[in-house]
Amino acid sequence: MSDQKNQKYGTKEFYEERVGEHFAKLREHIDDTGFVLFFLAKKSAGKGTYSKILQNITDGKIMHLSVGDLVRASEKRALDPEQREEFVNELREFYKGSDDIDDVVDKFIKEASDLSALLPTEMVMALIEKAVKDNQGKALVIDGFPRSLDQVEIAMRMQDDFEKKGLPSAFVELDCPDDVLVQRQLHRVVCPECQTPRNVKVLLTEQIEYDEDSGEYHLICDNKECDNVRMKKKYANVTADDIDKIKAVQDQVKELIHHVREKAAHCHIKVSNHVHVDDAGNHDPDDFTLEASFDWDPESKKVIKNFKPWIIKDDEGREAYSRWPDPVVAELVKALSEWLDLKKQSK
Ligand SMILES: [Zn+2]
Repeated sequence: MSDQKNQKYGTKEFYEERVGEHFAKLREHIDDTGFVLFFLAKKSAGKGTYSKILQNITDGKIMHLSVGDLVRASEKRALDPEQREEFVNELREFYKGSDDIDDVVDKFIKEASDLSALLPTEMVMALIEKAVKDNQGKALVIDGFPRSLDQVEIAMRMQDDFEKKGLPSAFVELDCPDDVLVQRQLHRVVCPECQTPRNVKVLLTEQIEYDEDSGEYHLICDNKECDNVRMKKKYANVTADDIDKIKAVQDQVKELIHHVREKAAHCHIKVSNHVHVDDAGNHDPDDFTLEASFDWDPESKKVIKNFKPWIIKDDEGREAYSRWPDPVVAELVKALSEWLDLKKQSK
C-alpha cells in the first residue's frame, strides 16, 4: 500500500542505509562459507515473506528452501517410473536410516499425499542434506523443518554435521505475538470472485466504498477483472470461540519454539516483529505498521482514510507496535552478520 508503507522497502538501498556495514559483511560471509538456517515461526507469521526478502536483497545468494515444496517435487519424481530409480540413487548418498530406502520411498509417497502427516524424518533429512550439497556456495533458509520435538534433536545433529564441514548453522526464531495473527485473521477480507486477500486494517485496496444505508465500509477488489466487487469478511461477528480457535492452531509450533529456546540456546537467533511501546523512542516511527480507519465525508461523498500506528499486545500482555517485515529483516541481517563474525573468530 503506497499510503501505508515506506517506498524503499524491499530494495537493497533500504538495507544499505539501515545496516550497510552488516549487509556487506553478510554477503562476504556467504561467499566465504555459506550457512544453513532453520526458520521457526508461528503459522502465518511470515516465514515465506521474510525468506523471500532475504533472497531478493542478496540476489539469490540466500535461498529459501521450503520443505513442503521440496517434498512435493520429490514426490513427483518418486511417482514417475522413469525417474524413480535415479531419485532413489541420488538420495542413497544422504540417507542414514536403517530401513531399506526403497521401502522408505514407498512410505514417503503414501504419506506425502497427506500434508497433515509427518513424513518419515530420515527421508526429509536426506532431502535437506541433498539440497544443501546441491546449493554449495549459497546460504539456505530452511522453512518447514523441524516440525516436531523429535525433529528438533535431529535438526541439532544435522547442525553439528554442517558445522564440522565448515558450514555455520543456527535456528532463527521470528517472534510474532498471537494478537497480530488473531487481528490479521479477524480483519481479513477476501474477494468472492478472485479470492485475493486483503485486510481492513493493515492491507487496504485503493478504493473503499461507504454504504450509507448500513453505515459500513467495504474494500473494493483492485483486480481489474473483478468489476468493483466488494470484498467479504470471514468473521462477521467475532466470538471468543473464534479467537480461541485461531490461537489453538499455534499450540504445537509454540511448544516447538519453546523447546528450541531451551535446548539450542547456543545457536538460537531471535528477531521480533514488534517493539514495546516504552521502547518506541529507539526506533524509526516509519517502521511501525499503520492501522487504517475510515470517515465518510457527506459533502464530497468520499471516504477518508486515516492512519495511526497499530498497537497490539505481545504474548505477555504488554502493548507493542507491530512492524513491517523489512525493518525486522534488517535486524536479522545485523544479527546474522554478528553471529557469522563470531563463528569466524572462533575458528
Ligand atoms: Zn477480485
